[in-house]
Amino acid sequence: LNKDLECLRDEPAITLDGYRIPLWVNTGLITDAVRSRDRGAEGVGLYRTEVPFMMKDRFPSEKEQTEIYRQQLETFAPNPVTMRTLDIGGDKSLPYFPIKEDNPFLGWRGIRVTLDHPELFLLQIKSMLKASVGLNNLRIMLPMITSVGEVDEALHLIYRAHAEVEEAGHKVKMPQVGVMIEVPASVYQISDLGQRVDFLSVGSNDLTQYLLAVDRNNPRVADLYNSFHPAVLTALYKIAQDAKAINKPVSICGELAGNPAGAVLLMAMGYEMLSMNSSNLPKVKSVIRGVTQVWAQELLAEVMQLENAQVITATVELALEKVG
Ligand code: PEP
Ligand code: MG
Repeated sequence: LNKDLECLRDEPAITLDGYRIPLWVNTGLITDAVRSRDRGAEGVGLYRTEVPFMMKDRFPSEKEQTEIYRQQLETFAPNPVTMRTLDIGGDKSLPYFPIKEDNPFLGWRGIRVTLDHPELFLLQIKSMLKASVGLNNLRIMLPMITSVGEVDEALHLIYRAHAEVEEAGHKVKMPQVGVMIEVPASVYQISDLGQRVDFLSVGSNDLTQYLLAVDRNNPRVADLYNSFHPAVLTALYKIAQDAKAINKPVSICGELAGNPAGAVLLMAMGYEMLSMNSSNLPKVKSVIRGVTQVWAQELLAEVMQLENAQVITATVELALEKVG
């Protein structure tokens, strides 16, 4: 890590004109969490719980899950840790729970799997709740939400898990619950989804893949996968505006947030928090501290007029070079 960037560890992510935007991290393993905390992350915006599941040869028990989640929560306490419920399917299947489909990214994935297996979902939520006893820094996030009914069903199970944990004698605060905006259908239901939950978080990786109909892992079409595509930026801007209209906190946890050019555009759109891989955090912080929010908003206005992803990236990069 570059010395100058390291010096920024305890400095806030704040623009030259005083706009403060918290930088959080994405984690999966406990080592990520420790490294992230040491790099000055203010919270965890996405803990991918499928990672510990992938390290086992069977579903982890409630006791095992509770211990793993406790480590994450303790490492960051009192800062918040956003735990995403199991997001398997797509490109991630567990060796002990194989899913064979012709179109896995359009198939049984994320919340679709866990709502079909409420026993898995309840066990995971109970483990998270027990892990948060005395810390109360847990947030729960639901992946691959497509319809409000899924949110209602998931909330119902979360309340039930909470009641059962309390009945078992554990005193635990009801956590904040949020949904991921990563399926294009959810972009058009921000108000209905947002009114049901405490926060929204955009998964720009899947949103890009689904909006552009480009497999995020297929090298043959990798050139077509671009989060700076004007359609993706237009969707991201709309999400931020619609969330603001109902006063619901909106953040982003896809790779775009860890890209300095992406980060300044997202900040200008009104995203209230950016969550990224910890390796990108120092760079993004340094860029934010070197610009003004007014400058970023002017740049965004210019970029939203452009019709080509490559021109957009070049424009933002040139603007960033000019401010040093
Ligand atoms: C995303 O889709 O942008 C995201 C953050 O989740 P994942 O990369 O785990 O699908
Ligand atoms: Mg995703």
